Amino acid sequence: MATISVLEKANRIVIKIGSSLIVDANGFVRHEWLDNLVSDITKLRESKKEIIIVTSGAVALGRGLLGVNKNIKLKLSVAQCAAALGQIELITAYKNAFAKRDTKVAQLLLTISDTEERRKYLNTRNTLSVLLENLMVPIINENDTVTTSEIRYGDNDRLAARVTSMSSSDCLVILSDVDGIYTGSPKNKNAEHIPVIKKITRKIIGMAGDTNSAYGTGGMITKLEAARISTESGAHMIIADGRVNNPIINIINGGKYSLFTAKTSPSLARKNWIAGMLEPRGNIYIDSGAIVALKKGRSLLPAGTTKVTGDFERGDAVIIFDNDNNEVARGLTAYSIADAQLIIKKKTLEIEKILGYKGRPALIHIDDLVITSGG
Ligand code: GLU
Repeated sequence: MATISVLEKANRIVIKIGSSLIVDANGFVRHEWLDNLVSDITKLRESKKEIIIVTSGAVALGRGLLGVNKNIKLKLSVAQCAAALGQIELITAYKNAFAKRDTKVAQLLLTISDTEERRKYLNTRNTLSVLLENLMVPIINENDTVTTSEIRYGDNDRLAARVTSMSSSDCLVILSDVDGIYTGSPKNKNAEHIPVIKKITRKIIGMAGDTNSAYGTGGMITKLEAARISTESGAHMIIADGRVNNPIINIINGGKYSLFTAKTSPSLARKNWIAGMLEPRGNIYIDSGAIVALKKGRSLLPAGTTKVTGDFERGDAVIIFDNDNNEVARGLTAYSIADAQLIIKKKTLEIEKILGYKGRPALIHIDDLVITSGG
């Protein structure tokens, strides 16, 4: 019941697909299964939901192309080579399945730093939102070929959770070869399935045990880590069995799942995160008209900005003051101090002429801004 309403209420959903769902035991794409999944996703999109896919499967498909059995452990360099080969197969399979429904897909290959370094994070977030605005389906995998063992997620569960947080999605659905969390190993007959988890306690972590599958690298522990990241960013997370045909419709029709509930919303979680940033890199002073606009929920435009100080780059945290030095808000700036100095007090339409590139219309977008003064 709860899950149906979570999916119904969600506007933006990230769906994570594990390798063992999309790739068969011989290293080939499971086209029929994929086609049914895409049909489910199309139904969600028809009810005006935005969908982002995080998919594994590149290494598993690459193994198939190299003729390497799934039981043989690959050296990192060979796994990277397999990923380079397999990613083409993977994205082509999605592209063709979506093309049948007149839908365009876009490929994003991300590394940890793209989801953690603020500037890269902001660019990725913007790219995702422009793709979604243009009714495309972003399809994400880790950029396995450039990551080293120290700087890779290695599992797409946590990558999917970071994408959920970065895109301010309302819900993450992890489709896996398990149908949720049990009080013990699912192989143990006495283990009971837990349908709703409101808090990730030590007891839950203890229960999760480990249920690695043949291909995927993520076990139950990485799924719990994903649940922590998602719920802290205001998104609910569902773990459901993806092995069935039409796995999303199966959830809606009452199939088994575990739901981790979030206590806050994505926008509130993001605003708390911005408000709590420890190292603001600069100060931005604004006029009274801009203060009124911010309090009405508008973005901060260069025109209402009177002075900028500090040493900040695009994406850094800054504090916004009124002209009497009272803090008004905090936010993430869309311009470096060098560029901001050139455009303050100017109309948004003039930005391109002054800077020589078409920047963002606002100095700080409303989604990147939180009012901190009481009044
Ligand atoms: N990025 C890996 C791949 O596409 C999968 C990692 C995982 O198993 O989650 O093959």
